[in-house]
Amino acid sequence: MLSDVAVDDFELRALAAVLEEGWLSMGPQVQAFEEAFAQMHGAAHAVAVSSGTAALHLALAAAGVGPGDEVIQPAINFVAAANMTRTLGAVPVFADITAVDRPLISPQAVQRALTPRTKALIAFHHGGYPADLAALKAIAAEHGLSLIEDACHAPATFVEGRALGTHGAAGCFSFFANKNITTAEGGMILTHSAELAGRMRLLRSHGMTATTWDRHQGHASAYDVEAIGFNYRMDELRAAIGRVQLTRLAGLQERRRSLTECYRRHLSAVPGVDVVLESYNGPHAAHLLAVLVPAGQRDRIVRACRQGGIQTSLHYPCISDFTAYRGAARCELPISREFAQRAITLPLHAGLAQAEVEAVCTVIEQALAGTSGRRPKSVARRMEQERALC
Ligand SMILES: *Cc1c(COP(=O)(O)O)cnc(C)c1O
Repeated sequence: MLSDVAVDDFELRALAAVLEEGWLSMGPQVQAFEEAFAQMHGAAHAVAVSSGTAALHLALAAAGVGPGDEVIQPAINFVAAANMTRTLGAVPVFADITAVDRPLISPQAVQRALTPRTKALIAFHHGGYPADLAALKAIAAEHGLSLIEDACHAPATFVEGRALGTHGAAGCFSFFANKNITTAEGGMILTHSAELAGRMRLLRSHGMTATTWDRHQGHASAYDVEAIGFNYRMDELRAAIGRVQLTRLAGLQERRRSLTECYRRHLSAVPGVDVVLESYNGPHAAHLLAVLVPAGQRDRIVRACRQGGIQTSLHYPCISDFTAYRGAARCELPISREFAQRAITLPLHAGLAQAEVEAVCTVIEQALAGTSGRRPKSVARRMEQERALC
């Protein structure tokens, strides 16, 4: 399996407690989850929302992105940031990535994409590996742009003493089922700005000045609507799961990092495969394990993986190649295109056994060598043993 969730009795008990309590949305659990997330990341404010997509939408809206504005961003990303840019009537301007084995937005390409209409810049930490924040922050400061981090792959990852998601105006996180921690669906925005946080809280719930919880607590009896907003609220059940997941996060990421090292060790000896960001040894969240293979061989390798019971994926196709984005690329994106033709995402989650990693590497090695091998029986046994250990 490409990814898997780590939940057990603690999440179940937290859910049961919320149901017994009977307050189901936007109450003490959400508040406590926001506080814990903000504290863990050293941010002044955290705003819990219903998804990572909602987080991106609110962050862009609160930054004032609107019709005609341009938002520079990578084309190798999940489509959410681009979709939310378009939803606001703004134009996603795609800048190329740094290198085919480094799928992070290139600051030089960002420079070339600037126009007088550029309003914001999205830094996406692909796979949990940090984008070039120093350079991107400098560009944002020089040109008065809002820097928004798509940190959906990168919770609790500290670069130069600061968590990813806290380097710019706002940082967006997702707790979808395949992320490093999950609330099933869910998201969070971090910001140091009280003004932005207030704006996002307002837009989260229809621009209303008081929530049902405020009124329940006797803090308010009426409300005004100050802005045209949305329903992006998080519920108490998800927040309760999220609070438990936060206590697991460090352990889960450590396991992901050690499996990443295992992949790197095994694949470094295999000709024709390059692990994406292999030479990077700084802090990262080990969300994805992506490799590059020769373009002409990818389909064959993906097929060999499927036949061996190994699920693979692609993070991501080049957004400007999607039907809804055809013709949207203003700049040439040769490196993004090459990445999208050569990358394969391999299974990586905390429940994976080292023996499974080895088995995946063997299948890839054999597929590249043109032979088809079967997973040895001993591997299946060792997988069972290791699962019991971790
Ligand atoms: C998951 C994800 C999103 C969207 O998050 P949802 O919670 O699924 O809406 C956005 N950007 C990236 C990079 C993601 O991985």
